[in-house]
Amino acid sequence: MDVPPLVASFTIALPDWVRDELAGVPEEIPSVEDRMALAHRLADRNWREGTGGPFAALVCERGTGRIVSVGVNAVLGSGVSSAHAEVVALGLAQTRLRGWDLGGEGLPEHEIVVNARPCVQCYGAVLWSGVRSLVIGVDGPEVEEITTFDEGPLVPDWAAQFEIRGISVTQGLLHDEGVAVLRAYRDAVDAGDVTVYNARSGA
Ligand SMILES: [Zn+2]
Repeated sequence: MDVPPLVASFTIALPDWVRDELAGVPEEIPSVEDRMALAHRLADRNWREGTGGPFAALVCERGTGRIVSVGVNAVLGSGVSSAHAEVVALGLAQTRLRGWDLGGEGLPEHEIVVNARPCVQCYGAVLWSGVRSLVIGVDGPEVEEITTFDEGPLVPDWAAQFEIRGISVTQGLLHDEGVAVLRAYRDAVDAGDVTVYNARSGA
C-alpha cells in the first residue's frame, strides 16, 4: 500500500449504541454487583453490535458508585489495537476529570470494574491510572480458553502486584454471568458470524 502522510493524533470513541444502553442507568450504582452486571451487559452488546470484542469496563467513584466513564473494546471501530475496554474507560475518565491521575489530590477513590481479567497491556494501564480498586468478573484462564484471545504474559502474582501498589483486587464477581457472555461470543465466532480482531489470531 502507499504510505499515507504522518498524522498528529488519533481518536478512540465509544460506539453510538452505548448512549442508548446507558439511558436507563442511574448516575450512581451503589452495589458492586450491579456495576458488574452493567459491565457484562455492555460486553455482550459490544460484540453483538459488531463494534468489538466481548469486553467492557467502567470507572466509578468507589464509595458512591457514581459512574465516571464506561468503556468497551473499540479496536474494530478505531483501528487501534490498544483500544481495549480498560484503556477506553480510563482515558475517558481522565479526560472528563482533566488529569492523568484518578487518585489525585482532592478526588474521591476510583474503581475500575471489568468483565474479564485484564490483558498484559491493560494490567499496566490500570496500574498507572490512579484507581484504588480493580473488580474483575471472569478472572481465570477461561478468558483465553473461551475467547482464544492471547492475553499476554501476565506475571503469576499479578494480583499481589496491584495490592502492593495500594490497589485492591476483587476477582470472580458475577463470574458465571460473565462466562455466559464469553461463551455466546465464542459460539458466534465458531459460526462465522463475527470478525475476530486479534492481529495474531491465527498464531
Ligand atoms: Zn486489554
